[in-house]
Amino acid sequence: MPATEDGELRHDWTVEEILDLHETPILELVGRANATHRRFRPQGVIHKSALISVKTGGCSEDCAYCPQSARHHAIDLTPTRLMNPAAVVETAKAALAAGADRFCMGAAWRRPPKGAEFDAVLEMVRGVSALGLETCVTLGELDAGQATRLAEAGLTAYNHNLDTGPDYYERIVTTHSHADRLRTLGVARAAGLQLCCGGIIGMGETKRDRAALLRELTALDPHPEGVPINALTPIPGTPLGDRPPPDPLDMARMIATTRLVLPTSFVRLSAGRATMGREAHILCFLAGADAVFLGDTLLTAPNASADHDAALFAALA
Ligand code: SF4
Repeated sequence: MPATEDGELRHDWTVEEILDLHETPILELVGRANATHRRFRPQGVIHKSALISVKTGGCSEDCAYCPQSARHHAIDLTPTRLMNPAAVVETAKAALAAGADRFCMGAAWRRPPKGAEFDAVLEMVRGVSALGLETCVTLGELDAGQATRLAEAGLTAYNHNLDTGPDYYERIVTTHSHADRLRTLGVARAAGLQLCCGGIIGMGETKRDRAALLRELTALDPHPEGVPINALTPIPGTPLGDRPPPDPLDMARMIATTRLVLPTSFVRLSAGRATMGREAHILCFLAGADAVFLGDTLLTAPNASADHDAALFAALA
């Protein structure tokens, strides 16, 4: 019998408890996660986001998975300046027409610069929000004033991932700390923004590190409204470029565990979809995922194609 009733909203999970859940036999784990999903989440609804890079590459940080770091030498990545807000809004219109519920904009910065570039980001948020789309940005570290201005511009959610458990974090990122990330999440929450915050599996972390990541997320009060679960997309030229992509069953296990400990959040099946087949997607939806990103690329990484997703959603209908 489970030690706690499935679906209980808790902020005091221990790593051991979450690890125990994670190691439950897969059929029981997915079954329990599915029952929790059916109890707490709208049925048959997959939330769809489009994600574009509005400023690519040249980033000062050293995140080991990321081709946008200026410290790595990713093949096929051309740094770009910040996009024109009008061009971003045109892209958002196309995403809306393609069925997106949310439009997410990412910029490769440690923190957003002040002045004209931040004003341009605010203009993007206002323009996208005026289309009736939910808006999300991921810009790195924020200060309180920037978070407030984003909220006033109509931003729905701020994305800032914890990436992995705190003990493994320094193997992945050394230029900014886990505590820095938690600070930005607090600043965004204090400004009234929803949080989109999750992590990545397949970077060499242990199962305990995965459980520790989820423990950090459950400790946030309230829980993040959205939790992206990413499978590493190994990009040549990055320090993790030679790693194999994680087994889709590991994704399903991570998603099911996430659903059980974060029962009311969107669980967003994120990077890694490009190498997952239709059946693996459906297993992840059964395990509690209820959100995806649309579009051929996720910032700079490959994503499932429009044709793939059309076939997937047709199979779900
Ligand atoms: S993940 Fe973000 S902060 Fe880290 S290197 Fe990439 S763009 Fe920079």
